Amino acid sequence: MTIEYVTSMKMKSIILLLLIYFAGMSEKSYSQEKLKYNDLNKAESAVINDKGTELPFTGKYTNYKGKGTYICKKCGASLYYSTDKFESDCGWPSFDNEIKGAVVRIPDADGIRTEIECANCGAHLGHVFIGEHLTAKNVRHCVNSISLEFVPAQLESGRYGTAIFAGGCFWGVEYYMQKAPGVLSVTSGYTGGSVKNPTYEEVCTGNTGHAEAVKIVYDPQKTSYDKLLRLFLEIHDPTQVGGQGPDIGDQYRSEIFYLNDEQKNIALNDLKLLKDKGFKIATIVTKASEFYPAETYHQDYYFKNGKTPYCHVYTKRF
Ligand SMILES: [Zn+2]
Repeated sequence: MTIEYVTSMKMKSIILLLLIYFAGMSEKSYSQEKLKYNDLNKAESAVINDKGTELPFTGKYTNYKGKGTYICKKCGASLYYSTDKFESDCGWPSFDNEIKGAVVRIPDADGIRTEIECANCGAHLGHVFIGEHLTAKNVRHCVNSISLEFVPAQLESGRYGTAIFAGGCFWGVEYYMQKAPGVLSVTSGYTGGSVKNPTYEEVCTGNTGHAEAVKIVYDPQKTSYDKLLRLFLEIHDPTQVGGQGPDIGDQYRSEIFYLNDEQKNIALNDLKLLKDKGFKIATIVTKASEFYPAETYHQDYYFKNGKTPYCHVYTKRF
């Protein structure tokens, strides 16, 4: 072989590697596009994307007293609990505390105020004021109603849909499901086992029979069980047996917990579609049993800690 020939082979290898790299890059950006946020109308976008302010005393949550959680209109992340809401007479919903890690503070362009944004998606929420002595915490998050959506603690029966999926470490499944349009809340927890009120440490032994799972509450007018199920089957590997990614153990198994026959039929049908495409499916389909929410520090884990999932990635399968 001549030196020229070897050099040209090396160049070809480098070009090939670069092509593979860029092909991977485009696949990645395509995947991210798939996980888009909720669509916003003109008025919502004017506040949430363009940092506008709704007129005082016009928002639907200004004097609202329902018990539950206020979530981000754009991405669905949980932001404030109703227990931290107070009446400030300022004309906008006021909270003296946020859900830990859910809200970021940045200097406002006016050079005086402090703007608050959703930590997950950057949606403009309003401003935060300190030192007004309105409550013991001495803080007022002044939030535009239009940036929020309210999820009642006691869900009206029939108004919302529920889905329960297990696909490895619940932090990762929650991360992607939280971003899906039409999803109102995602709770990490344990289900499918034999011990009542299990702790994380007990589930980690793999002896309780529980799987790490997420319970999703969604708006059937904006999404469907089928759409969420297909997303679930594309953000974890439904062919892996006995674990997910680097997490090995029965508690990390892939399982769909159906709540009624309609969900069961959709699940069996979607898994058949994947089997017909040649996937060797490991996912099991089981009737849902008691779901135990996990400890508070597991909820919204990636949002609170500013990290991204280590074992879940979007891969198109349908
Ligand atoms: Zn958000």
